[in-house]
Amino acid sequence: MKQVQTLIHGTTIIPMSDHIKNTEDDNDRVLSHHSIAIQDGRILDILPTSDATQKYSSTTTLDYDHHIIIPGLINAHTHAAMSLFRGLAHDLPLMDWLENHIWPAEQKWVNEDFVKLGTQLAIAEMLRGGVTCFNDMYFFAEETAQIATKAGIRAHIGMILLDFPTQYAKNPDEYFSKGLALHDQFKTHPLVKCTFAPHAPYTVSNAPLERVAMLANELELPVHIHVHETQDEISQSLDQHNVRPLQRLHDIGLVNSGLLAVHMTQLDDNEINLLSETNANVVHCPQSNLKLASGFCPVQKLRDQNINVAVGTDSCASNDDQDMLSELHTAALLTKGVSYNAAALPAYDALRCTTINAAIALGIDQDTGSLEIGKSADLAVIDINMLEAQPMYDPIGHIVYATQRNQVTDVWVAGKQLLSNRELLTLDQNEILAQTIQWHQKVNH
Ligand SMILES: [Zn+2]
Repeated sequence: MKQVQTLIHGTTIIPMSDHIKNTEDDNDRVLSHHSIAIQDGRILDILPTSDATQKYSSTTTLDYDHHIIIPGLINAHTHAAMSLFRGLAHDLPLMDWLENHIWPAEQKWVNEDFVKLGTQLAIAEMLRGGVTCFNDMYFFAEETAQIATKAGIRAHIGMILLDFPTQYAKNPDEYFSKGLALHDQFKTHPLVKCTFAPHAPYTVSNAPLERVAMLANELELPVHIHVHETQDEISQSLDQHNVRPLQRLHDIGLVNSGLLAVHMTQLDDNEINLLSETNANVVHCPQSNLKLASGFCPVQKLRDQNINVAVGTDSCASNDDQDMLSELHTAALLTKGVSYNAAALPAYDALRCTTINAAIALGIDQDTGSLEIGKSADLAVIDINMLEAQPMYDPIGHIVYATQRNQVTDVWVAGKQLLSNRELLTLDQNEILAQTIQWHQKVNH
């Protein structure tokens, strides 16, 4: 018998592994009565439980006999710290919401302590919803990185960039120097990495965007940016630059396989072809787009051109949660509704958008996004032994259409358990709750 650190027995496992992705039958995509052997944070083996109990003995053994095990969900776009602005302003279009509510609140409240607490709140919420990795864009990113490290979650920290001054930096040079210092600090970290995060084409001018293109190419880092979020953004760009924003980014050299273009609700056929030819990635944030009435990302048209689509929640200020299971559900339904096609974005492909597709977009698909031998043990366990979750015919469809985040019981990142029976093991959830209520009382009197 070979000794391993952790052995997880699962009645139902959806590995999302590439070698079975081409099958059309969901039954072939689900493993029944299999076990996952974990050693040094990685998946050493996945095999039938009857074989696993013969082959391995383990320090820790977990038996999930009324659960579904999936790869940890990846939130491909958020602003974690903004969780403290959950529900701050409702029922407004993007620019009114930003200019008259969000930006003034940020001016007033955002500092290191805000980011520390807001990020803890977001990570706590994400872990309790089965999220094992998030792609972030916000100020005081040093604090976000520290909190993510402490929590043990996988995180891509945006080196945020704007033309205008904020509490965090006074000009593009200072945003760059802070971002690059953070990248230097974390470049060898196993879980926390940096990405370039120019906010949007309408908030960053050409010279700093050109610098991002040069540095991203040199350092081989992804570029995470809001693009084509609204029709107004397109009109403004045509007025100011005589081109649509995506074309402007392309002229600067930013449209390539390292691009994570967030939102993309306004796309013509030429632009879809451009995204396809350049292997750029699109991050779909359906609930944020719906709430701000920004438009609909044409997910099925993108899929028809083999464009990689991931899904993100966006911030709690426009969503109002960090619930990736709910986002997954919305993404699947909205794609069908928008395309008048019930077969659009089938359940397995929707689940790909929140797991392996996001890992591909972030350049970490060698490490995570599916449960495969050699990959990091990043996984979420979902309890189905409750009346709201029974009966179950098809585990994949069940996850997409019939699962709530409060069914997530246990979560692992890199072989370390971060959630056990809905209790956080690396963050103090009572303390985060108490501090959040206290912060709200302070700002709301
Ligand atoms: Zn956003």
